[in-house]
Amino acid sequence: MNQRENIISLLLRDNIRNITPYSTARDDCKAKMDIYLDANENPYPNGVNRYPSPHQTKLKEMLSVLKHVPAENIFTGNGSDEAIDLIFRLFCPPEKSSMVQVVPTYGMYSVAAAINDVRVIDAPLDGNFALDAAAVLSKVEKDTKVIFLCSPNNPSGNLLDSRQILRILDGFDGIVVVDEAYIDFADGESFTMRLAEYPRLVVLQTMSKAWGMAGLRIGIAIADKFIVDMMSRIKYPYNISVLNQSKAEELLSYPLAAADRVAEIKSERSRLAAALSGMDSVVKVYPSDANFLLVRFRDKTDIFDRLLQNGIIVRDRSSVCGCDGCLRITVGTPKENDRVIAVISGETDGRTADGKSASADSIKTGRRASCYRKTGETAVSVRVDLDTFRKPVTATGLGFFNHMLEQIGYHGGIGLEIICFGDLSTDDHHSVEDVAIALGDCLKKALGDKSGIGRYGFCLPMDEAEAMVLLDLGGRTDFLWNVTLHEPKVGDVSSQMFRHFFKSLSEHLNCNLHIKAAGENDHHIVEGIFKAFARALKSAVKQEQQGGAIPSSKGWI
Ligand code: PMP
Repeated sequence: MNQRENIISLLLRDNIRNITPYSTARDDCKAKMDIYLDANENPYPNGVNRYPSPHQTKLKEMLSVLKHVPAENIFTGNGSDEAIDLIFRLFCPPEKSSMVQVVPTYGMYSVAAAINDVRVIDAPLDGNFALDAAAVLSKVEKDTKVIFLCSPNNPSGNLLDSRQILRILDGFDGIVVVDEAYIDFADGESFTMRLAEYPRLVVLQTMSKAWGMAGLRIGIAIADKFIVDMMSRIKYPYNISVLNQSKAEELLSYPLAAADRVAEIKSERSRLAAALSGMDSVVKVYPSDANFLLVRFRDKTDIFDRLLQNGIIVRDRSSVCGCDGCLRITVGTPKENDRVIAVISGETDGRTADGKSASADSIKTGRRASCYRKTGETAVSVRVDLDTFRKPVTATGLGFFNHMLEQIGYHGGIGLEIICFGDLSTDDHHSVEDVAIALGDCLKKALGDKSGIGRYGFCLPMDEAEAMVLLDLGGRTDFLWNVTLHEPKVGDVSSQMFRHFFKSLSEHLNCNLHIKAAGENDHHIVEGIFKAFARALKSAVKQEQQGGAIPSSKGWI
């Protein structure tokens, strides 16, 4: 047992430490068999006649790519409510332990504590729902085993100050749970980045909110492998059904569709907050980093009833500590939010004359595109925005490739998100090729009719290496590769895949692409090529004149 495991092991309940878990029939034999007569299942296929994977291996591999944490650090449960319950079962002896939670907060912590006969100690947040580490630590008693923090907090909606959370992690020697159910709606960083430093940290997330899978009941705990293993030992063996696992895998392979929805909800959150803030009936709209708003009304009962009469249900949180007069309103679709605004403002019932809701759907502008490409070997999602730079997101399961793709975003000055779930257990070929194809298709789609763009090239040195990339988006297609790499691999990517990447990309972007590079260090050569490509792309996609044609001496390309 290593030092981290030792620290955690000492915190476990005595009866749990050496518990013998239920071993499922399939645990005894991992190889694929022809005939399964080991689990008393019904042999006649109907899609659900076999037990599901108790380890949820595929689901965890996909989550690992998306969350940037190894699969062995991920526990998947029947909603994060299951993980909350298991934390009590692992660490809190019934009748002899307590937990500290901040208030107001998510109600399941205290319900799960009560079920497990664990005493609940409340530590109030301040008047603005801010976290004060000293106030929380002062509530810790001898028998306190767990502290629950919820960030962004439900029902207040605010992200808790990460420095205060770190103070709690440093000042308490039990388990600290940071519930990040709403983190995808916030701009702050996840505490999963802190797991290496803090073995006693458990981060909860859920598929129910940003991912739109509340009906599937899939929650996740991200923690030290030892904690994850212990949670897996005491969970019900088949805690996520066959149907739920396969539906989640399907939805997870379209991460950019989920990201688009999150962006829409965040923009609607601002619109709804601004509209409500100006109303006479509203005392305060609390700042939110989540997909809901906590709003204090002069007469919350009147507003609640009015909404109800108009077919709209919101959550009355007025009886919760620090929330008197408050309703919690989930951010809906633009049309739903219009109805809420209209009803609360008292102007109308929010319905237009033809009985339909007024629409706030915005017209999308700008050169943006998304592409999803799914084959038997990979599922690739790419999103580009040629006119707005955003920190690139690249998750392909290949560290070096991610780093190179980032260069296209950073040095191209464009918004770029690439997520690929590929058959890396075979090799890197399909992932690299299919990312190139999807990226080429996506850039082409975003370029549209190419009006006003340039046709460019770029040369740059990368330490001792030199790279030259010439790019013509005019519509001619040619590919030239004059690059010598010395080693069979660069990072975790096969060297021959870089030529293949740019060739596939040029074929799908319909461009003329000439690449020459030389140097001593393969990493420098490849990085130089990606950077020079990014710079060439940046100048090539830039619109030089509004609505102009592509520069060409012939006037026609
Ligand atoms: N944590 C918080 C803070 C929540 O608000 C909720 C649900 N409202 C959950 C966890 C439960 O999520 P799940 O659907 O994964 O059980």
